[in-house]
Amino acid sequence: MALERTFSIIKPDATRRNLTGKINARFEEAGLRIVAQRRIWMTQAQAETFYGVHKERPFFNSLVAFMTSGPVVVQVLEGEGAIARNREIMGATNPANAAAGTIRKDFAESVEANSVHGSDSPENAAIEIAYFFAGHELVG
Ligand code: UDP
Repeated sequence: MALERTFSIIKPDATRRNLTGKINARFEEAGLRIVAQRRIWMTQAQAETFYGVHKERPFFNSLVAFMTSGPVVVQVLEGEGAIARNREIMGATNPANAAAGTIRKDFAESVEANSVHGSDSPENAAIEIAYFFAGHELVG
């Protein structure tokens, strides 16, 4: 399997409950290395662009409001098969459907406030990483 990089966000529900360290420990225990990380408060424009693919969905406005409701931690994770590996340890979008031991099962509050984002493909990982980080900020 190839060494990959994926984009991750620790969402406002998790930063509010001081779960950044616990979630980062899940990544590291799964063999993912945090090669870039920054705590930011997303602007409305950033959140709308980031989730632009969902703009026709009924949950879009609420999702943008949630993502700008508090600080987030944007990060780049590196490891063997990092994109799929991260999706696996995150668990299903709706925590009610997430497998035992996954981040969302253990920490998410709802289908919206589900604690973490992780890229779903190599193409999206590249786009999402470049949206928040310059190349020199990734230190593997
Ligand atoms: N979301 C929501 N309601 C839904 C589906 C998704 O609020 O019915 C939110 C949720 O925060 C999710 C994000 O929109 O993480 C993006 O949805 P996607 O289907 O891409 O899920 P993900 O890739 O994050 O598992």
